[in-house]
Amino acid sequence: MSTTIISERINNLSESATLKMTKLGRELAAKGVDVISLSVGEPDFNTPSYVKEAAKKALDDNFTRYSPVPGYPELRKAIVEKLKAENNLDYDVSQIVVSTGAKQSLSNAILTTINPGDEVIIPTPYWVSYSEMVTLAEGKSVFINSTIESDFKITPEELEAAITPKTKLFMFSSPCNPTGSVYNKAELEALAKVFEKHPEIYIISDEIYEHINFVDKHESIAQFPSIKDRVILINGFSKAYAMTGWRLGYLAASKEIAAANDKLQGQTTSGTCSIAQRAGIAAYEGGLETVLKMKEAFARRRELVYNLLKEIPGVKTNLPEGAFYFFPDISSFFGKKDPAGNVIKDSADLALYLLNEGHIATVGGDSFGNNNYIRLSYAAADDKLVEALKRMKAALAELI
Ligand code: PMP
Ligand code: GLU
Repeated sequence: MSTTIISERINNLSESATLKMTKLGRELAAKGVDVISLSVGEPDFNTPSYVKEAAKKALDDNFTRYSPVPGYPELRKAIVEKLKAENNLDYDVSQIVVSTGAKQSLSNAILTTINPGDEVIIPTPYWVSYSEMVTLAEGKSVFINSTIESDFKITPEELEAAITPKTKLFMFSSPCNPTGSVYNKAELEALAKVFEKHPEIYIISDEIYEHINFVDKHESIAQFPSIKDRVILINGFSKAYAMTGWRLGYLAASKEIAAANDKLQGQTTSGTCSIAQRAGIAAYEGGLETVLKMKEAFARRRELVYNLLKEIPGVKTNLPEGAFYFFPDISSFFGKKDPAGNVIKDSADLALYLLNEGHIATVGGDSFGNNNYIRLSYAAADDKLVEALKRMKAALAELI
């Protein structure tokens, strides 16, 4: 008999590693230690002032009551217009469901499509919460491993080989968290051709980093008409408009899936914060100017970190094409000892060592499905990045 009130569902759930490392970093900082956080993936910029003004106005205009469950019609219309103007995708307002962040949309999309035992194909490395969300829905994650040698991208052949009669969903992010990899149009088309042969499989396409792409324009897998109806497109305001705390995201999908998500939200969270939604309308109506400014800063920092990371003995990195992460291979340190004699067994040990000894917060790759790596977010000020990489180099040199 169970000795705890906590459900098996939650007992079997892992804590989010990104949030855990961020919490540990904050705790150490609260003790007076000068910790540099490269753990949480969030822009270090402030929300644009025109967006904040819209939120203040929303309060004054008394947008303080329950909103429609899938979001205000004006916000859903602004999203439809954005998807057309920026992504050349046609959606109707009834196909958009606004939520408390892309995280909720992802979780809802899985809960509304997965029956117990259904398989979800996830290329690794993947964002920490994907597999845990699948577990919560009693689905089974099936991983396709990729490494730095292929720039962490999968091939159509690998996708085909992972498909079984139980496959229900495929889910991925491009630009990818944690690797920064970006699938170009030809690569997406090749994957779409595989899905054409398997009309029972749906695709969750997480495009939250769409604007942080250093190589090309963003391409969505929803652009291929033969599979568009099966794509559940996820996006949000956190990264593009530096609005992580506002909790505003959405999905765009077939009317059937959108209606199911509306029903689920109606029984769980209801419509998300009315003020955040009014701010979201202003964000989209205001265009891309601030997003592009942030991208310039991220482009500069990417070069900076790349050059510093390449200089650290034992660390192998590529040059990520998008998002604001590096995911270097640090497996050469496994089996080495820190000055206190503790053996570094895996990426989680290394992340803890870097936090406690180097005072930089990172996240071990194990929670992204690839233990040989570590994730560094470069959404931090340039001087902090220089100092963090200096500390990392010094701390790693202490391992013998
Ligand atoms: N998808 C990916 C790939 C992410 O990195 C994140 C983290 N912010 C999310 C979704 C969730 O974003 P939101 O803040 O909109 O919940
Ligand atoms: N998506 C961000 C990250 O990967 C935010 C933290 C989280 O929600 O996991 O760090």
